[in-house]
Amino acid sequence: MIIVLRSEATQKEVDEVVARLKNLGFGAHVSRGVERTIIGAIGDEREVDLEEKIGVLPFVERVIPVLAPYRLTSREFRPADTVVKVGEAEIGGGKVTVIAGPCAVESEKQILEVAHRVKEAGAKILRGGAFKPRTSPYSFQGLGELGLRLLARAREETGLPIVTEALGVEELSLVAQYADAIQIGARNMQNFRLLEAVGKLRKPVLLKRGMMSTVDEFLMSAEYVLAQGNYQVILCERGIRTFEPSTRNTLDLSCVPLIKSRSHLPIVVDPSHGTGRSDLVEPMSLASLVAGADGLIVEVHPNPVEALSDGPQSITPFQFSSLMEEVKKITRLLGKEI
Ligand code: PEP
Ligand code: MN
Repeated sequence: MIIVLRSEATQKEVDEVVARLKNLGFGAHVSRGVERTIIGAIGDEREVDLEEKIGVLPFVERVIPVLAPYRLTSREFRPADTVVKVGEAEIGGGKVTVIAGPCAVESEKQILEVAHRVKEAGAKILRGGAFKPRTSPYSFQGLGELGLRLLARAREETGLPIVTEALGVEELSLVAQYADAIQIGARNMQNFRLLEAVGKLRKPVLLKRGMMSTVDEFLMSAEYVLAQGNYQVILCERGIRTFEPSTRNTLDLSCVPLIKSRSHLPIVVDPSHGTGRSDLVEPMSLASLVAGADGLIVEVHPNPVEALSDGPQSITPFQFSSLMEEVKKITRLLGKEI
């Protein structure tokens, strides 16, 4: 249930609703907007009639049942767009923010070169995996902590904040020591213990859609993070598995406006994993922005043919610069800022 208080409700009244909810066995998440305060009640609504117990209070405007299986993630809970800050970069709320970097950190030379080049071209956040979720146990698994140290070095040199993946709860605190935002990969979208663990941190989370997950499952995974008190979640559409073998995944761009209508969280699109083909990265990046995405996450490698992972979908720094020129044009046309 979502409880909307009248615009003139005082702090004492907000506290009273929270206390009543607690007595009834509900958790309460308070969201203060400019116009009104909204309280998300978390608990079993079949047991208690909140309309009767809370809706009768004079300072409560409405009690809205939430039909969706997520609450804090829903638009009803927070009508305005959430803006997530990663370092100095902002994602959401009328901006287009581009995250770029290699699939995996491979060497100091590689990550520093990419970091400088993507920054010059206009990227606001650097990506790079230190712990890689590879389908085969014999493929390159990432440089581990050394990779994290190299990312930190690249941040020092360029000022770009970094996003990197944590594969499991065990290495989360190590990754969190270095990262400005923690990536939860597609294969871990329903690793509920990991979601709860990042929910307990106070760091932004880039949550990728599972390759076989529905939009509602995706939003419920985000709910796991928000339910622990961490509202800094950036959603990422990265393609889903279909019968089409010509592309690595099928980029589901229809989910972007759909998610925008259902949730206040920002959403970025990953055209690299979404297509698996470097030649499709630019057209799908532009299409993503037209569909309403708040940004992009793009794989860039100085020499894609030699890349230790995801070479076929990686673009060169030169191609990235020309992509950014097009991104800037579309951003202007959309009346957004970059
Ligand atoms: C990645 O971003 O390099 C990655 C492994 O992505 P995904 O989890 O979407 O496959
Ligand atoms: Mn990759």
